[in-house]
Amino acid sequence: MDFSPLNTSGPEVDVPPALVWTHRLKQLGPQFFTPLKPTPLAAPRWAACNEGLRTELGWPSDIFDSDHLQALAGNATLVGSEPLATVYSGHQFGQWAGQLGDGRAIWLGEAASRQGPQEIQLKGAGRTPYSRGGDGRAVLRSSIREYLCSEAMHGLGIATTRALSLVASTERVLREELETAAVVARVAPSFLRFGHFEHFSAQGDTDSLRALADHAIAHHLPECQARAAVWQGNVYAALLDEVQERTASLLAQWQAVGFCHGVMNTDNMSLLGLTIDYGPFQFMDGFDPGHICNHSDHQGRYAYGKQPNVAYWNLFCLAQAIAPLIDDQDMTLQVLEGYKSLFPVFLGDAMRAKLGLVGALAPESEREADWTLVEDLMQFMASEKVDFTRFWRQLSLAVVQQSQTLTSESPAGLALQPDGWSPVTDLVLDRPRLLAWLARYTARAGKQNLAAMGQQMMRSNPKFVLRNHLAETAIRQAKAGDFTEIETLHNLLKSPFDEHPGFETYADLPPDWAGQLEISCSS
Ligand code: AMP
Ligand code: MG
Repeated sequence: MDFSPLNTSGPEVDVPPALVWTHRLKQLGPQFFTPLKPTPLAAPRWAACNEGLRTELGWPSDIFDSDHLQALAGNATLVGSEPLATVYSGHQFGQWAGQLGDGRAIWLGEAASRQGPQEIQLKGAGRTPYSRGGDGRAVLRSSIREYLCSEAMHGLGIATTRALSLVASTERVLREELETAAVVARVAPSFLRFGHFEHFSAQGDTDSLRALADHAIAHHLPECQARAAVWQGNVYAALLDEVQERTASLLAQWQAVGFCHGVMNTDNMSLLGLTIDYGPFQFMDGFDPGHICNHSDHQGRYAYGKQPNVAYWNLFCLAQAIAPLIDDQDMTLQVLEGYKSLFPVFLGDAMRAKLGLVGALAPESEREADWTLVEDLMQFMASEKVDFTRFWRQLSLAVVQQSQTLTSESPAGLALQPDGWSPVTDLVLDRPRLLAWLARYTARAGKQNLAAMGQQMMRSNPKFVLRNHLAETAIRQAKAGDFTEIETLHNLLKSPFDEHPGFETYADLPPDWAGQLEISCSS
């Protein structure tokens, strides 16, 4: 393939400073990155500007002016930014893939914000020394999906990289068909991945590995210092421990909202436990634990139900990479064991919240009984292939409705009418089986206040998720030059637990054509 040369000189235009920059990553030294500038993008145009994020970060409104359009497209340099691409390696689909790196994401630097320093990357900003055969671009289709999904995840309260802006262009890129390029400006405290550690470990460069771990601890995970006390003062064991805990928490939340990432390679795993690299992801429609959202994943390695184990496998890779720093094999394995006990606790808590069974300090016996209740429900949901999001939301609604037929202080176990469950029983074929489960559930809810339970459930079970067909509609319109649907979806997804009257159709079951959508790695 014939691509334009790497851009080591341009762009020539400077955009005056709106941000205060620091670049702590650069202190790591030249073996970690290659300085280079974005490749200019033809005819850039704002497709979305995230005003909410801009305000949260306390960044000036200039950031969305016409000069910044050029800068966030890669056509001009933000004064004070020091663009570069970082190197990493990783395991892809279970195999060691060797050196990878930011193949199309260009790091602009780290800018001060109201929420602490934030790194900014332009995804799709041109080739880098790590592009391998790729063109360094991202298509509008996948960029819309990343923009919307990262904000949807944030709206759900799930840790994620954020999306500041989306720039469309007329530049042509070839995938399965000819498409146009776009650039997402994404923001995170750090874009470090498991793969960054695997890279220096594989090179046998323990000094760089240690420098990277020290950087991560000093600037991004300072809590490791205190945590080292648990591990005989071993701060690198504490680092692994912190990462496994964040990963366990993240995976529990993914599972609880029916999110499939699709490409859980170790280079797509954030050290900070953020959801990162939105590709062929999917919020499940009909519930199927074996659901595979990535059409390139022929073995189903990254199927929904396998995600928690894959995360453990990935943590094992990270552990192997930093084992020379921990320098104690038993301790390393012991830290990893933490994931096996923590993940079920986090998942159990997330599922109990979905059922309105609150109380984080529940005794062990209660947790176990609740888990049986959850498992039985999930088995039933799978046998019915019932729509995941809708089922949970309708169950919440049913509890709210039941509570309204009782006096406000009535305990949940009292006088519930089978008819009162219709919002959820209407969704399934085997109503007697669901009613039997609901009877156990109400008995368990016992003395809890039903109204409070319903409120908790409405805050734990979203009405709106970024279903594939919703993204697809926004993509089709954007390809025709109309970006309004992106904004409509963004508005719904940033507060997915709210009712949003007038937008009911966005919570509907997917239309028939959605079944034909094929989402692959190609982006
Ligand atoms: P992913 O599967 O999207 O995580 O990508 C794996 C690796 O391929 C990463 O190093 C990416 O930066 C790189 N990559 C993916 N797409 C492209 C592209 N169009 N051009 C250059 N590099 C790419
Ligand atoms: Mg990636």
